[in-house]
Order: sequence, then C-alpha cells, then structure tokens
Amino acid sequence: MITRDLLHRLPKAELHVHLDGCIRPATMIDLARAQGVTLPADDPAALARAMFVRNAQNLEEYLEKYTVTLAVMQTPGALERIAYEFVVDSAAENVRYVEVRYCPALHTPALTYAQAVEAPLAGLKRAEAETGTMARLIVCGLRTLEPRVSLDLARLAVDYRRAGVVAFDLAGSERGHPARDHAKAFEHARGNGLACTCHAGEGDGPESIRQALEICGAQRIGHGTRLHEDPDLAAYVCEHGVPLEICLTSNLHTHTVTDLARHPAADYLRRGCMVTLNTDSRLMDATTLTDEYWVAHRTLGLSRADLERVVLNTFRAAFLPEEEKTALLARVTKELSEAA
Ligand SMILES: [Zn+2]
Repeated sequence: MITRDLLHRLPKAELHVHLDGCIRPATMIDLARAQGVTLPADDPAALARAMFVRNAQNLEEYLEKYTVTLAVMQTPGALERIAYEFVVDSAAENVRYVEVRYCPALHTPALTYAQAVEAPLAGLKRAEAETGTMARLIVCGLRTLEPRVSLDLARLAVDYRRAGVVAFDLAGSERGHPARDHAKAFEHARGNGLACTCHAGEGDGPESIRQALEICGAQRIGHGTRLHEDPDLAAYVCEHGVPLEICLTSNLHTHTVTDLARHPAADYLRRGCMVTLNTDSRLMDATTLTDEYWVAHRTLGLSRADLERVVLNTFRAAFLPEEEKTALLARVTKELSEAA
C-alpha cells in the first residue's frame, strides 16, 4: 500500500529544479523588505497564491513569474540564503542528492559573475554540512540571450567545476530559440569535461530534443515530454538510456500536457526509458518532490516497484563522479529495501 507518507520517507534525488523557483514565501518577504522591493502580496500565504501558476497558456507565460523572485535575488546574501534554505527544505523530505540550476546572468549587473556563482555554492555547502544532503549546482544559459552570453556562462561553469558546479544547461523560451544557436557554449563545456543537459521537448517538439542530443551533445534531456511525437528518436533515447528529467506538475502548468493522466512519462518508463522525477519549481508549481511521486502513483498509476526504479534512475543519472555515485547508490539501495 503506497501512502504519501511512505513516498515522503523514501530516499530521493532531484536533478531538475530552478533555484529562482524555490524561494520560501516568508524569505521573499524578508528580502523584499530589506531591499525595498515591492511584491504582489505581503503575507506568506497570499504571496504563495500569487506566485502559483495555475492557468498559464504556455511556457512563456509561466516564465514571467520568475521576474518576481529574481527581483529579490540580486545580492550575494540573498542567493546564499535561498540556496541554503532550498537544500534544508529538500533534506526535510528525504532528498539525499540534489542538483539545482539557475542562470548567473540574471543576477548581473548587480553582482559579478564570480559573486553570482560563489554565493549559491556557499549556501549549498553550508546546508550540505548541516543536513548531509549532497547539493550541486548547474549553470544555465538562456535561449533568449545572445549565444555569446551562453558561451560566457559555459566558461563560468567550467571555471567552477571543482567547486560544486556539475553541468551546463540551456533553459528559457524554447520555441523560436533553437539550441543549435548555442552550440559553442555546449562545445566549451563538454570540451572541458563538464556534463551537459538541455531543456527540450517542453515548449517545442522532438526536433528540439534532437538538436539537444545531436548538436549540443546533451547527456540528459530537461523534460523531453514531447519525445513520443518522434518514434525513432524515442526508441533511440530509450535504448541508449538517455535520462529524461520529467517534471509532471510543471508540464500541466505550462500546457505541455493538457491532462496529467495522459502524461507520457508512464509509457516512457514501461518502454525502459531512464525516467527521473523532479519538481522544476516548488513555488510556481506549488509542489514538492514527494507530491510529484504521489502524482506519479495516483494519476499515472506507477507501482511501488516503478517508483523505486525512478528513484534509482534519478541517482544513476546524477552528474557525480562514478566513485561518489556508486557509494551514494549503495546507501540509497539499502535504505529503499528497509523502507516499510
Ligand atoms: Zn526547467
């Protein structure tokens, strides 16, 4: 019998979550007061409601909410605190490993690139020491920014690869902003030993996933929801074990799917695809990682064995050195077998 409480207790990992989508409402209010920023509401419950995206018509409308959170994320102290609190909140629902992403360019010119990356890294480190939850950072380029900015961000990510940055990603409005324009950034990251993932198949179709894999060399796909529209590509992705960073609730909110019960993730899993479950954004989607597993069970009909497979897939797809990953997987496998 699967209960929400059981899913809360299971050890979990998360690979696709945006730092600027995961601020505690009370912290937003604190930071806004200290910085003289006006928010859409000034008590935590009303602010959470204001930030929740329920009826976005598309990815673009959904992304607009991020301008609100970013307004209070323009000091090193704010970034450090938000990163710290995010890991503390993740640890509280038994997340043992997390990769959190953001775009440092959205914190300039208030901060230098170095400040914009060192502040969240410090927060992640402080929380990891306190909670034991391992936390790593992914630097995102944005499809809507100039490709030379993406290249600068890939360089920044590479510069901090021994300090906790594990990958480069490309995020932002997908349709009309092809990943191939940012190929140089991916090339720089890969050429310097940094892993790559890429948002694709969320705001646009399978051709976008093909570009992420074939032109950008992404090792994982952010979302990949619309993969099924190209059966050959879907077969390739499943057979080669390319991890899909699935975010169920977010896909509903961005209208990538119109009905969660018909989300293709369950089918991908049954076909042997490397499905992982993630939140994308806890604030804008009003969700938690436990909620995403609960939705996968209740709405998609995933069994306990399916969910445990997803948990292990997520750890296996982590951008960690093999030795660390093996040790982590051994601990998690033991924990899973003991969870009643
Ligand atoms: Zn995302």
